[in-house]
This record gives sequence, C-alpha cells and structure tokens, in this order.
Amino acid sequence: MKRKKEKIEKKVEQLLEQQVDEDNKDDDEQEGGGSSGISDENKQIEKLQKQAERIEKFLKENAPKIGKQGREIRSNVTDNESAMMVSSHGTLQGYNGQALVDSKHQVIVHGGAFGSGEDEHYLIGPMLDGAKENMRSIGKGEDYFAGKTFTADSNYHSPTNLKKCDKEHLDAYVPDKRFRNRDPKFEDGKRRRRRKRKRFSLDDFHYDEATDQYRCPDGKTLRLNTKRAVVDGVVYRRYLANRDECETCELKAKCLQGKNIKGRLLNVPVGSVPGHLTKLMAAKIDTEQGRRVYDQRAGIVEPVFANIRFQKSMDRFTLRGKIKVNVQWLLYCMIHNIGKILRYGPRYGFT
Ligand code: SF4
Repeated sequence: MKRKKEKIEKKVEQLLEQQVDEDNKDDDEQEGGGSSGISDENKQIEKLQKQAERIEKFLKENAPKIGKQGREIRSNVTDNESAMMVSSHGTLQGYNGQALVDSKHQVIVHGGAFGSGEDEHYLIGPMLDGAKENMRSIGKGEDYFAGKTFTADSNYHSPTNLKKCDKEHLDAYVPDKRFRNRDPKFEDGKRRRRRKRKRFSLDDFHYDEATDQYRCPDGKTLRLNTKRAVVDGVVYRRYLANRDECETCELKAKCLQGKNIKGRLLNVPVGSVPGHLTKLMAAKIDTEQGRRVYDQRAGIVEPVFANIRFQKSMDRFTLRGKIKVNVQWLLYCMIHNIGKILRYGPRYGFT
C-alpha cells in the first residue's frame, strides 16, 4: 500500500513537471499567452492526489495485515476486512460464504462469511463452534456433534482443522488435495495429466539398490543427500544430482523447477510419522468406506449453495464490511432454511 502511494506521488510529480515544461514552451511560443481553464492533466493530478491522501489516511488508521505465513499481505482501502481469494471466476476481492449443512434435510446448522486473513477462509473451528452454539440454544448437549460424520472439501484440509475435528471427536472425512491422484476411479484423468506433465518425476529415475543411488533420464547419478526429511507427516529420503551436470544438461527444462539451478533434488517417500493426523486422514480417505462417505458430500452441500445462488439469486455480496456481509449471508441461509422447514416441517408436527 505504501509502495502504491509512493508510485502515485511520483506520477503526480511527473505530471506537474510536464505541466511546467509545457507552460514554459507556451510562454516562448506565444508571448503572454495564458492557460485556458482546467486541463485534463489538472483533473488527473487532482484525482491522483486524492487517491494518495486516501491511502495515507488508511495507513495511519490501519495496522498492516499479516497472513498465515507471518508475512504482510495486501490490504484493501475500500474494504480491509475482505480478502483476495481464488474462485472459479479467477482471483476476486471479497468474502467467502460458508455453510455447515445437515445431511438429512439440507438445513444449514451454521453459516458465516469470511474475508479477513488468508487462513480464516477455510477454518473449521469457527463453523463448528457456531454450530455447537446453535445446538445449545435448542437444548442439545455440548457433545452433540461427537461421533457424528463430518465431511469437508480439500480446501479445509490443514493440520489445524484436523486437530479441531480430532478434539471434537468427529468422524471426519477431509481429504488432502492429492486424494484423487490415489483414487483408481480417476486413473484415466491421471493418465491424461501425465501426458501433459513436463517435469520428470520419481518414475522417470532408476534406482540402483546396490549403490543406493538413482540414475536420471540423462544417465547421471543422484547421490543420497538427506536420510530422513519429514514433510506433512511423510518421511522422505532425498537424493541430489551434481549441480554442474544439471546446469549443462539438455533435459534440464523438463527436470528442474525455477530459475535457480541447484541440481535436481529427488524426494523419495519411505514412510510416515505414526499417529500423524494428516497421514491418518489420507489412509482413512483412501479406503472404500472413506471414498464412499466423502462422495456424499457434494450431494449434501452443493445443492444448498446452488439453491442460494441460482434460485435465491444471491450470486454476489452487495455490501461492504464483514458484519454487513455476514448478516447478508445469514439472511439468505435463513431463507433457505425456512424453505426446508416448510417442506419437511409437517412430517415433524410443525405446521
Ligand atoms: S537436469 Fe540433472 S537430474 Fe535432470 S536429467 Fe539433467 S542431469 Fe539428470
């Protein structure tokens, strides 16, 4: 934001200098000639100065936004509680409307709109705590959700969320982003993707058990570099190619990632950390029962979003600020629920 302000101020300076030059030129060409009214440039300068003042005021009143990596993330002068998020329509500045839906009647048991802070978009904690609060208010016990089946898409897969599910004793199914790669159902798609893939993977390297070394597609040797590296609960052995050989290799475009050539590093998975929640979840999702339960998720929750979006015409938030956006989202959730109660209520004695 500071950089943006500096850029605007620099542009204003440039425009002012340009104007002075033009005025001097006019003076030389037509003696005593004056400027006629407010030029387009003046209007542009005025607009830019207002923008710079607005940013300056914003910077004084707001602390920098810090993302989950601990680094400063982009603020927004118009609505600083909103956030950049990746959607099916590209990257948008806005809020993410979330809903926790019951599988029997598709009633929303808790809803919320999230924007501020990258990590807030897909946190199970606030949704679950909100749902528990709602259950308490209708007389259900604190442990109402314990043992219940819970599904969430892979956007929610994170150690924090899995810990929360574990703490609440949920029978949770929250797959990681690579679960489809392990699912035989998607084998055809995997083959198609493999044809498109550019970078050499582990399958393209040949292992020599006698020397504990790998041979790359160019016939070069990768030696053991790290005996044990743990990433997300998976234990790897790491093999490294000779940097000089990679630098001059004709296949490097298909093998190395990024511009900095450090020699190809090959991660070979050799096991997992026992009791690691991420690995336990992957193992659970990869079972027949796990896949069957998770497959039901789309049929439960997606029609709810489709109903709100297409039948109730709520395809974008029209307000600014988290409180107002949240109220707008909850109103639509309520309207959805009223429809469900009208439909199913008589079966339970509600008329
Ligand atoms: S970039 Fe290095 S590891 Fe990759 S094929 Fe070439 S020499 Fe082998």
